[in-house]
This record gives sequence, C-alpha cells and structure tokens, in this order.
Amino acid sequence: MHAMLEYLAPMYDPTRPHFLLGVGEPVDLRFAIEHGIDMLDCVLPTRNGRHGTAWITGDKAIHLTNTKYANDPGPLDKACDCTTCAQGYSRGFLRHGFKVGEPLVGSLVSIHNLRYLNRICEEYKLGI
Ligand SMILES: [Zn+2]
Repeated sequence: MHAMLEYLAPMYDPTRPHFLLGVGEPVDLRFAIEHGIDMLDCVLPTRNGRHGTAWITGDKAIHLTNTKYANDPGPLDKACDCTTCAQGYSRGFLRHGFKVGEPLVGSLVSIHNLRYLNRICEEYKLGI
C-alpha cells in the first residue's frame, strides 16, 4: 500500500478529494495523509475497541485484556481528551469489563480509538 500511494500521489488532481478505504492503523493513516489522501474509512478503530485494543500516544497499541492492566488505575492515554479518558475510566476498569463480557467497555475503547485517529487528522489540519 505504501509503495502504491507513493506511486499515485504525484498523479492526483489537487482540485478533487481523495478517498482511501480500509486504512485504520495510525502509522498507515499518517502515511496516507502525507501522500495526498483527504478522507479515510476503516472498521479498525471500533473492531480493535470491541476486542480490547487501544491506541496510545506514539501510535502504540495496548491490549487491555493483558493481566498487567488488572490493577492499573490510569486512563487509556494521559494525553487523550476523549470522553472515556476524561471521565476517568481506568485501564483496570476497562480490562475487568472485557473479562466479564460487559459490552459497554468495547464502546468506551472504540470512542477512544476514534478520537485518537481524529486527533491525528487534527494535527495535520493544524500543521502540527
Ligand atoms: Zn481517550
């Protein structure tokens, strides 16, 4: 995908928007934006969220079902302003929810992941 984006980018009509479907990993999203893509869509932020994987600062992924988060009182990402992090849902609470099959936690992590990708787009929009 990266090689194809590099090949195609010089041929894009700058007066038209460019859409790329199925790109959801933060590193790929950044690459796509840097190669002329204006719009993206992917199931990954919500699929990952439903299964307990959250993206955190540095484009890293954490897997909340890991035992090491059982007693973690911290938010998913201290740098995040999503409602899940801002309202104080801890990694330990979210992990417990996944372990007992509580569907709410999948939604909470999905909200966080969507906001994570949205923040990346905002960084590019603001030229950060
Ligand atoms: Zn968050």
